[in-house]
Amino acid sequence: MPIDFNLLHSKLEDLRKKYEHLHYLDSDPICFPKRYKDPLDIEVVSLISCLYAYGNVRSIQGFLKPVFLDLGPSPYQTLRRADKTFSTFLKNLKVYRFQTKTDNQIFFQTFARVLQGLDAKSPLFESKLTNGQGNFVGESSISIFQSFWEEELKITLGKRKLTYGLQFLIGKPEAKSPKKRLSLFLRWMVRNSYPDFGLYQNIQPNQIPFPLDVHIQKLIQILGITNRKSFGAKEAYLIKEFFKKINPADPLLYDFYLTRVGIIERCTAKYQKDICEVCYLKEVCLVFGSATGN
Ligand code: SF4
Repeated sequence: MPIDFNLLHSKLEDLRKKYEHLHYLDSDPICFPKRYKDPLDIEVVSLISCLYAYGNVRSIQGFLKPVFLDLGPSPYQTLRRADKTFSTFLKNLKVYRFQTKTDNQIFFQTFARVLQGLDAKSPLFESKLTNGQGNFVGESSISIFQSFWEEELKITLGKRKLTYGLQFLIGKPEAKSPKKRLSLFLRWMVRNSYPDFGLYQNIQPNQIPFPLDVHIQKLIQILGITNRKSFGAKEAYLIKEFFKKINPADPLLYDFYLTRVGIIERCTAKYQKDICEVCYLKEVCLVFGSATGN
C-alpha cells in the first residue's frame, strides 16, 4: 500500500507534540549531557554516552550514572587533569555487558589522553569527522572517526589488536553496519533543536545517517517505509532519504519521538490492544490495520 505522506507527517507531528517535553529526556541517554552547560562537557559526555548506548536504557543509565558522578561537575576538566593511573577518580567503574572493567579503564585512559592532546576549545571532535575541506562525507567520515579511536586505543593497550569489548565499543571502521551509536552522537551534536545540542556547524542535519536502533528498525517496517529485513549502512542512508521527503532540511527530526514509541509506549511491533488502541501512529501502522481491519 502506498504511503500517505500527509497522514504520516501529521501523525509524526502529533507524536512530536506529545514527547517534546523535558521530562521525557530521562527515558534516553541524552539525559546525561543535558546536565551540563559548558559545550566541552556536553560534547565529552555525549560521546561517552552514545558509545555505551547499547542495551536497554535502564542498563545504560545504571552503568553511566556512577561514571559521571565520579567525573564530577566537569567531566571534561576531570579527564584533562587525569593521570595515567586514574588513582583519584572513576572508583566506581564497572563491567558493562561486552566491556570488562579493564576495557573500560583502557577506554577512559585513552579518552583522557586524547583530550589532553586537543586544544581546549569547542567543538573538540568535529574536525575529526570532516575532511581537509571541512566536509562530512557520511559513512566514510564515521569510519575515519572510528579508525582514529581504534589507533588511540591500541596505543593505550600496547597491542596491535583490540579486545572484543573495546572493538565493540567503537565499532569496526570497515563494517557495513548502520553505525547507530555514532549516528546518534552526530544527531545530538549537529541538530540544533529539541532535544539536540547543535554544537557542530560544518555538518548539516540532512547529511547524518538515520540512527537505526532496534526500535526504529521495527517501526519503519510496520509503518511501511521499508520491507527490508536486515539493516546496514545502506539502509541508514535510505531511511534518512525517506524522511527527507517529509523534512528535507532535517530528516532526523522525528528520531527521538519515534524511539519513544518503543521505549515508553512499549510497542513490540505486534498488535497489543491496550497499547495499540491509544497509539498516535495507529492510523499509519500496518500491524494495527491488519489486526483491526482499519
Ligand atoms: S499501533 Fe501498535 S504496533 Fe503499531 S506502532 Fe502503535 S503500538 Fe506499535
